[in-house]
Amino acid sequence: MSGDQADAAVVGTGPNGLAAAVTLARAGLRVALYEAEDTIGGGLRTEALFDRDIVHDLCSAVHPMAAASRFFRAFDLPARGVDLRHPEISYAHPLDGGRAGLAHRDLERTCAGLGRDGARWRGLMRSLLDHSEGVVDFVLSGQRALPRDPVAAALVGLRTLEHGTRLGAARFHGEEAAALLTGVTAHALGRLPSIASGAVTALLAHLAHGTGWPLPAGGSRSIADAMAADITAHGGVFHTGRRITDLRELAPARLLMLDIAPRGLLELAGDRLPPRYARALRRFRYGPGAAKVDFLVSEPIPWANPEVGRAGTVHLGGTHAEMVRQETLTARGVRTDEPFVLVVDPAVTDPGRAVGGKRPVWAYAHVPHGDRTDPVPLVLSRIERYAPGFTDTVLASRGIPAAGMEHHNANYVGGDIGAGAMTLTQSVLRPVPSVDPYRTPLPGVYLCSASTPPGPSVHGMSGYLAALSSLRREYGVRVPPPLGVRP
Ligand SMILES: Cc1cc2nc3c(=O)[nH]c(=O)nc-3n(C[C@H](O)[C@H](O)[C@H](O)COP(=O)(O)OP(=O)(O)OC[C@H]3O[C@@H](n4cnc5c(N)ncnc54)[C@H](O)[C@@H]3O)c2cc1C
Repeated sequence: MSGDQADAAVVGTGPNGLAAAVTLARAGLRVALYEAEDTIGGGLRTEALFDRDIVHDLCSAVHPMAAASRFFRAFDLPARGVDLRHPEISYAHPLDGGRAGLAHRDLERTCAGLGRDGARWRGLMRSLLDHSEGVVDFVLSGQRALPRDPVAAALVGLRTLEHGTRLGAARFHGEEAAALLTGVTAHALGRLPSIASGAVTALLAHLAHGTGWPLPAGGSRSIADAMAADITAHGGVFHTGRRITDLRELAPARLLMLDIAPRGLLELAGDRLPPRYARALRRFRYGPGAAKVDFLVSEPIPWANPEVGRAGTVHLGGTHAEMVRQETLTARGVRTDEPFVLVVDPAVTDPGRAVGGKRPVWAYAHVPHGDRTDPVPLVLSRIERYAPGFTDTVLASRGIPAAGMEHHNANYVGGDIGAGAMTLTQSVLRPVPSVDPYRTPLPGVYLCSASTPPGPSVHGMSGYLAALSSLRREYGVRVPPPLGVRP
């Protein structure tokens, strides 16, 4: 199908573009998708970089949201053959002297490992776990409707205030528990503490003990492949290597669904946007950057504390106080020698990723917006501090500075992998203050990227909610189409 015959054109095939396309195709629309890069998936791409047998996740690697979000619960990845593999330890936080905080999937084991802070950890997580689905649906919503589970919403509010202020970490006695929790807070990529990062903590931290922080076998691409298969089965057509530069290229389609950042919309729409809306888009702020590093290594990471080697995700940020300092400096645009770094050795959870004694290691560092520094030495020294000898295991490496991230994905402006700063205002009113954040003033044109609510991560909810909004408004369809595997 060419764009001429499509009812809906989707620009960008990240998880949100794909989720929108799944929903629209399931509603019976003829959907054409356009992707600038040669492969689909956006943040869900997995490719061989140094060795044809070893694949690396170019962006996302760990998928708490794909295991829990409303869109993916309905889409049902496991029923489509996506093997979500759960590490025994969801995430770990090594500290100097071989100490480490460990967030086991099993809440009680986590509490036992945290000694005097165990009871406090249980208190923080238990109530959220008892309302987990409500918590997920409230945080990963369009943030415009009343919550379906008011108790869950109240709990999120309470925890957000606690984690988003100095109260959260101050309640712990030991450094391990405080660092463990702050490492989760740092996922929000911004000044610490902040109210916006508090909500991220409430969501992510409790999921580690619930639906988990899994890695899909074979890499993140398997999620994109499952979504693409469903789209194709429902008549959708993909056009890769096709960068859209002007919305008029898609003219015959009645509905345009844009998985792009506000800067992209400004470029594609030119002077057709009403000046007020264009001004609001120009005011949209992008956040600090991430600099990505991929390693090919000869053995598992030699963590000083061997327990860390059983974790799916490892946070390197030092103590609570160190992370607050680093993240706040980074958000202000100041480069630090000890940035927050996330590390994943996927073969720990998915042994098939290690072939012939070689394995991939995935890492990224939080750095100032637009930073141009090669992140490889920075990340190596961060890992060495907690895993002496790691450098000797490295067979090959590739670093992408924050400034280079937008070359393989236009949505990562200045390396901001959140597609917009997670400030209090922008975490709710993204991309502009509006009752329907997905709808633009241009007839039939909708935004569905992570620059719209609920924001970054692989949850598919921005795409799903944008598609539902467009079906309601353009086609009068009020009942969401079923998304599950057909019998
Ligand atoms: C290094 C890194 C690590 C991450 N780790 C995780 C993680 O472990 N877990 C997690 O949940 N999330 C993670 N994320 C975040 C996650 O990948 C993103 O939040 C998510 O992919 C956003 O989805 P999206 O569909 O909005 O946009 P994207 O995934 O960014 O996709 C947008 C797509 O649109 C295409 N595009 C843009 N402009 C045009 C145009 N003009 N014409 C055609 N195509 C266009 C782009 O090429 C891209 O393919 C990570 C991101 C990065 C970069």
